[in-house]
Amino acid sequence: MEYRTLGKTGLSVSVIGFGASPLGDEFRTTTAAERQSAVDAAIDAGINFFDVSPYYGRTLAEQRLGEALGARRSRVVVATKCGRYDVESFDFSAKRITTSIDESLRRLRTDYVDLLQAHDIEFGDYNQIAGETIPALRRIQESGKARFIGITGLPLTMMRRVAENAPVDAFLSYCRYNLLITDLDRLLMPFAQANGIGVINASPLHMGILTERGAPAWHPAPDNVKQAGGRVVELCRRRGVPAGAVALRFCVEHPHIATTLVGLSRPDHVQANVRAIEQPLDPELLREIEAAVGPAANVTWPSGRPENNDYDLGSQAAPGPDTSGGSPGA
Ligand code: NAD
Repeated sequence: MEYRTLGKTGLSVSVIGFGASPLGDEFRTTTAAERQSAVDAAIDAGINFFDVSPYYGRTLAEQRLGEALGARRSRVVVATKCGRYDVESFDFSAKRITTSIDESLRRLRTDYVDLLQAHDIEFGDYNQIAGETIPALRRIQESGKARFIGITGLPLTMMRRVAENAPVDAFLSYCRYNLLITDLDRLLMPFAQANGIGVINASPLHMGILTERGAPAWHPAPDNVKQAGGRVVELCRRRGVPAGAVALRFCVEHPHIATTLVGLSRPDHVQANVRAIEQPLDPELLREIEAAVGPAANVTWPSGRPENNDYDLGSQAAPGPDTSGGSPGA
C-alpha cells in the first residue's frame, strides 16, 4: 500500500481510504460479521484512513466503525464529520458542533478524532460556516478532541471561498474527480496546493454509476451522465477489466489527491480494490473511455443552497458540460 501526506497535517494516509457510510446500511443491510471482516481486511491490506459521519445510517455507521476498530483505533486515522444529521437536517452552529463531537467520540469509542469536518457545507449559510463553524472547529482542535479540521461538499468554489477566509487543514470533495469528471483540478486543486490543504477525493465510482449494478435509484446525476457511465462499464467489460478497477486506479494516479475514499462493507470489495490499484492504466483504454463519455464529461448537479453552487444550475439537474475553462458562476 502506498501512503501520502495529507496537506500540512503530517498525517500519512493510505491512497485508498475506507468510506464507512455503507456500515450504516446506506446501500443494503449488512451483518456484524461482514462489517468486522471488511474492517479487518482493510487494516490487513494497509488501509489506514477511515471516513465516517453521524449522518451515515443516522449514527449507526459511527457506532459500528467504533465497534469494528476496537483497540486498533490508535493505529489508524479516523475522520468524522458534524453539521449534517439527516437528509434535511443541518445545524452548523457552534453550539451543535461542540456537542456533536462529544457524541461522535462516544460512538467511536475514542477520545479524539484525527480529522473533524463540517459535512456538506453548501447546505449552510456561507457567513455562518466561515464566521462561526470553522472557529468552533478550531476550538475543538485546541481542546484535543480533533487533531485537524476540514470541510466537505459537492460545490468546490464555496469550499475555496470559505478556506480563503477561515483556513482549514483538509478538503473532502466527491463526484468531482473520476472517469466522468475532473473539474476538481480546475476549481479547487490549485488553491489547495498553494495553501498546503490536503485533498481527500470521494466516490471514485461516481456513487455507483461506474459499477455493474449501476446507479442507485436516488442518484442525483442527470440521465446523460448515468448513460455515459453505463457505456464505460460496458466498454471495460468488453476489454475484460472491471470498470471499478480502472476507475479507482485513475483516481489514485492523481499525485495531489492524498487518499481516494471508496464505500466499503464487504471484504471481497476491499481485496478487489486493493488489487485494482496495482494494475497500471492502459492509455488506449483511457482514450476509448474519454470518447465513450463524450459530452457527458464534467457534468455535475445542484446541491444545497442555490447561491453556494459552482455554476448557475437553474432548476434543472443537467447543467451541461463544463467546457468553459473560465470562472464558475458562484
Ligand atoms: P463510490 O462511488 O466509490 O462507491 C459506490 C458504491 O460502489 C458503493 O455501494 C460500494 O459498495 C460499491 N463498491 C465499492 N467497491 C466496489 C467494487 N470493487 N466493485 C463493485 N462495487 C464496489 O463511493 P461512495 O460510496 O459514494 O463514497 C465513498 C465514501 O466517501 C463514503 O463512504 C463517505 O465516507 C465518503 N463521502 C463523503 C461525502 C461527503 O462528505 N459529502 C460524499 C460522498 C462520499
